Parts: sequence; structure tokens; C-alpha cells
Amino acid sequence: TLDLTGKVAVVTGGAQGIGQAIAQALRDGGADIVIADRNAQAAAATAADLGGSSLALDVTDSASVDEAVERVVTERGRLDVWVNNAGIAANAPAEEMTDDDWRTVLSVNLDGTFYCARAAGRHMLASGGGAIVNIASMSGMVSNHPQPQVAYNASKAGVIMLTKSMAGEWARRGVRVNSVSPGYTATAILDQVRQRQPEWTETWFRETPMGRPAEPAEVASVVRFLASDAASYMTGSNVVVDGGYTS
Ligand code: NAD
Repeated sequence: TLDLTGKVAVVTGGAQGIGQAIAQALRDGGADIVIADRNAQAAAATAADLGGSSLALDVTDSASVDEAVERVVTERGRLDVWVNNAGIAANAPAEEMTDDDWRTVLSVNLDGTFYCARAAGRHMLASGGGAIVNIASMSGMVSNHPQPQVAYNASKAGVIMLTKSMAGEWARRGVRVNSVSPGYTATAILDQVRQRQPEWTETWFRETPMGRPAEPAEVASVVRFLASDAASYMTGSNVVVDGGYTS
């Protein structure tokens, strides 16, 4: 069943974009949602819109991540679903990418996903189960071109393997860990790229068999599925939602 009634679900980076759509889909499924975002104001506004709660969280700070899990469990009484959606990109040719850009992307996308999955997983292992969904990207499977994004691509490949590794370790203890790898998705960021470098987005949509980007809701519905008991025999899977791009 896709029903999430009575479950508490946290979405990192849920203030806008794909994360917001995920929070909405989980809410529509009946979950009590918590939006955890480093942009506290936007998180509170989105939570108010969706009828959930919010907390300020920078996923790169592992102590804050541990505290956030404690707080959710104390305030909401339980924690069933954790979606690692917070992510950033840096565009620079590999030969020009600075240490800072490399580290920043890896720290949010890979370290942050690990810290959150570890903290949520510890609680879920102790409480008897749960579902973790990590938002990777098709860029973790095929290199993103013509946009140069070595750090982003490497970080998302890391998310896919982190998912499989944790899934295997926890499979017998009731904690499922899966990833979703979206293709190009119609968010504010994609709009910005379209305005700045229309030749890139034209290439992307041409190379996508469906000829269009995903709507955030089309990614979110898959996350809801993986978070729910309908996916009870799925763990360690990387579900690709890319309009056929990598096929
Ligand atoms: P977005 O930039 O619109 O939203 C990201 C959210 O994450 C923001 O609310 C931001 O405040 C938050 N965030 C950033 N760093 C954070 C941190 N350190 N701690 C907590 N929150 C933080 O991005 P989006 O396009 O909605 O992407 C969401 C996820 O989907 C990302 O992981 C991204 O890599 C992935 N993705 C996006 C696309 C796409 O085409 N948009 C495609 C594939 C995968």
C-alpha cells in the first residue's frame, strides 16, 4: 500500500524544488512531514503551506544532523521515513575546478547524505524499521554533458553506492535504503540554465526520449512509492526516473 498514514517523514532540502514536491507527495500519502532545510525561512513557509513542520538544518554538520533526528523523535514521537534530497551543483571545467567547489559539492551531496542516513538509520534500527530514500541523479550513472560537473557527477555516483552499501548492511533489520535518480527536472535551477545557456537545455531535451524534463511531481511519486510498504521488498535499488535518457 502507498498509504503513509501515521508515519513521520523528513525531507532534507524540502523548502523548494523537487524536495517540496516530495514533501507534498508524502503529505498526500498521509504522512506527518518535517521539512529540514538550511534555508529556515523558506522551510517554514513551505511547511506552513503543506501543513507540516520545519527545522533549520545544514546537512554538512553531522552534530546538527544527529540533533535533528533526536528532535523529530522527541517532538513527533517517531521517525519512519527520511528523504535525502538536499543537493547542490558547481559548474566548472575539471581543470579549473577549485578545491573549495569540489569540497562544497561533495560535502553537501555525499557527506550530508551519509550523515543523515547514518543518524536516521540508527534510530530506525533501534525502533524496528524505516525507509530511507536518497536522491541521486542520472548524472551519477552517465556523465553530465555538455555541462561540466565532475564534482556533482562523482558525488551522485557516491550516493548510489552509499545506498547499496547501507541497504545491504541493514536489510535484515527492517531498514530499507533506496535511491532515485532523476533526469532533467523542471525546477527553478533548470529555468536559470535555460535562460543562460539555452543550447544546453535544448541538447538535453533532444537527447531525452520523452523530449521534455520531468515535473517534480513525477519524481516525487516514485519517492512516495519507495517510502511506502508498496516497496516492501525493495532495498538497495536505484530507480531511474529520466524519461528514457539513460536507456
Ligand atoms: P534546489 O536547489 O531547487 O533545492 C535544493 C534545496 O536544498 C534548497 O531548498 C536548499 O536550501 C537546500 N539545501 C542546499 N544545501 C543544503 C544543506 N547543506 N543542508 C540543508 N539543505 C540544503 O534543487 P532541486 O533541483 O530541487 O534538486 C533537489 C535534489 O534533486 C538535489 O539532490 C539534486 O541534485 C537532485 N536532482 C535535481 C535534478 C534537476 O534537474 N533539478 C536532476 C537530478 C537530480
